[in-house]
Amino acid sequence: MLIPFDEKTGTVSSAIRVLIGLCRPPDSLRSGESSIDIRTRQREHTRKQKEIAEEQNCLAEVSVLLLHKQNGINFRISGRADLVSEDGNTVLEIKTAKPLPKKAATHHLLQVLFYAKALNASQTILVYTDPDTKESVEFTQNIDDEEYKTLWTGFLTDVSEFVKDEWKRHKKLKTSLASFNFPFETRRLGQDDIISAVTDVNSNEEELLMQAPTETGKTAAVLTGAIPPVIKKWKILFFLTSKNTQKKILAETIQKVVDNNFPLRTIILSSRERSCPLDTDRCNPEICPYAEVFEPRIRESGVIDRLTKNILITPEKLMEEAVAAKVCPFELALFVSQRCDLIACDYNYVFDPGIRLKRFFDDDETAARCALLVDEAANLPERVRGIWSPEIKTSWMETTWKYAAENKKLKKLLRPWRQFMQSFADSPWPYKEDEVKLAEGIIPPVVERRKWQQALSGDMNSPPEAVLLSRAVSAFGRVAENMDERFHLLARKEKKDTLIQWFCTDPSTFIKDEHIRCSSISCFSATLEPINHFAKELGLGIDNTLNSKVVGWPFPPENLSVWVDTGINTRWRYREEQTERLIKRMQGARTKTPGTWMVFFPSFAWMEKIVIAAEEAEMDFISQQRVMPEEERKFFVEQINSGDNLVLVVSGGLFAEGVDLTIPDLQGCFNWPFTSICITKAETITGKIQLNWKRRISPRFCNSWNKQSYSSRRKTDKKQ
Ligand code: SF4
Repeated sequence: MLIPFDEKTGTVSSAIRVLIGLCRPPDSLRSGESSIDIRTRQREHTRKQKEIAEEQNCLAEVSVLLLHKQNGINFRISGRADLVSEDGNTVLEIKTAKPLPKKAATHHLLQVLFYAKALNASQTILVYTDPDTKESVEFTQNIDDEEYKTLWTGFLTDVSEFVKDEWKRHKKLKTSLASFNFPFETRRLGQDDIISAVTDVNSNEEELLMQAPTETGKTAAVLTGAIPPVIKKWKILFFLTSKNTQKKILAETIQKVVDNNFPLRTIILSSRERSCPLDTDRCNPEICPYAEVFEPRIRESGVIDRLTKNILITPEKLMEEAVAAKVCPFELALFVSQRCDLIACDYNYVFDPGIRLKRFFDDDETAARCALLVDEAANLPERVRGIWSPEIKTSWMETTWKYAAENKKLKKLLRPWRQFMQSFADSPWPYKEDEVKLAEGIIPPVVERRKWQQALSGDMNSPPEAVLLSRAVSAFGRVAENMDERFHLLARKEKKDTLIQWFCTDPSTFIKDEHIRCSSISCFSATLEPINHFAKELGLGIDNTLNSKVVGWPFPPENLSVWVDTGINTRWRYREEQTERLIKRMQGARTKTPGTWMVFFPSFAWMEKIVIAAEEAEMDFISQQRVMPEEERKFFVEQINSGDNLVLVVSGGLFAEGVDLTIPDLQGCFNWPFTSICITKAETITGKIQLNWKRRISPRFCNSWNKQSYSSRRKTDKKQ
């Protein structure tokens, strides 16, 4: 649970903001604070607070604590009041808003009522201030009014009911732990090691860096290790992954856990764009029908109860229920996620300061309730580097400049940036290299975030380039606020375009700053060697709590042979001319060693080119499609498992990871993603393909090779 609860004394300890977030979503998603960037909000809040404090001689930032019992639950609620009058009778709370509201928002009222209760004040004033016009509006409440008494009591009753429900659910989960087990019938080699390492780290609230090869069955083992200690401590487990296929694997694994009578409530979060029923990547709550009314629709529709009856809450289920309730699916998912034991989402929701889950990671107190499992952790530093290495393209600027032709305000905003970008226009490109690090003295213009936000955020007619530019400028502003020696300004030429980029050489501090506040972190990946290097990249090992583990290969090593075909060059620029050769390789393998051959491509685009060439060559094959509904997928897997096929699929896709293939006659795999590498067990193509090095590459299908064929292959191997 997101809030600490002492089962012995029946006491909830929490900040008021967290309690409100748990049980009172906003009345509407429109005109909220989130439509104003955080720096502007902070600045305006401080200005208004200072102004009122001076005018009315108030105390600012007063810490408060309220002890209260309601409905059998003890509350220990803390908070900090913005302003308290000198006589202590009035509490003032300041909120930034644009436009100024006509009435006070319920969740704001609850906050200020809490301060008044805790300080024994008789009156509260909610002050809304506009950061642009500096106008403000006030709403005064007498806390003895029946309306406010009912509001406050109703809120505490709801929280106590929520806590009781969660307590009951938790007791059931804890009891079920006695029969909780690994979700599959058999365990692979190495899975016991993974389970015990993850259990230890989550029990001791430490850090883990674990290398375990593909096909070890990491997902199931990591979950089996993490769930018991996290449930015992009543914390929330985050499974972070960059891939939707991995979320699918997780969902399937959790379904098995649920089928084994362990009701671990799990939610799979999709991005805002993927969750949007309006099918737009420009979310604008001000004109969105799903954002107009939020809390009343949630309450009246009973959508939370319906969703939480599911143990596994999938994006499809969320979409269906949200659309029926006429609320934004993404915001609904965020609200419901607070009632879950396991949350599967992208890395960004923890590590990107622009979109991280505020309810969980804004406060140290709530972050400490979260245990992180980071899948494919070797990719995390690169992802965070990307977040902190924004770039601006000249083409974005020029398109936006043309769009701004009649818009003086926008032009004024663009002008200094355009002049800056023009110094790096492609013609003439002033540097010898295509990419250069710019001199220290070259500094991008100052970012006036609020002005950019005002000029572009609500404009649904602006070109996509304007949106990209606005987001990039905002990210430049974020870098400027965190500027240090890790950031280098680069200029780069890309075909006819040029770009400027703040490049972050070391994102490890940004990663560390987030995970160090969490209860534990377990990073796992197929490749994490050298361990020390990755520990540093991931900001681990700062306080001597790092555990590292290398799990061995789960299959007999003699089952794998790797042939490198030096005659094939898979670099992008050579791909066109390699088509004929690839076709011949595949034909040769199939003719000389009948049976199933799998061919893995790095992209759909390349695979589709080869598909056309294979059709022209009248080859017999089956191939993955870009879009494959569930039924088609099942049929495709059945086809593969029926044997005697040449199967063309995409690496890292649906049929390359997390799929159980039981091919009876698998002969080998061609793996084109790596330059000139072919993985195969077919001895008969020896002579065409030189064996010049070996390495461990996914022997995904080795478990279906039979002993006899290994030995015959090994003999040929030796002949080479
Ligand atoms: S439904 Fe779509 S446009 Fe509306 S608030 Fe949600 S994400 Fe934004």
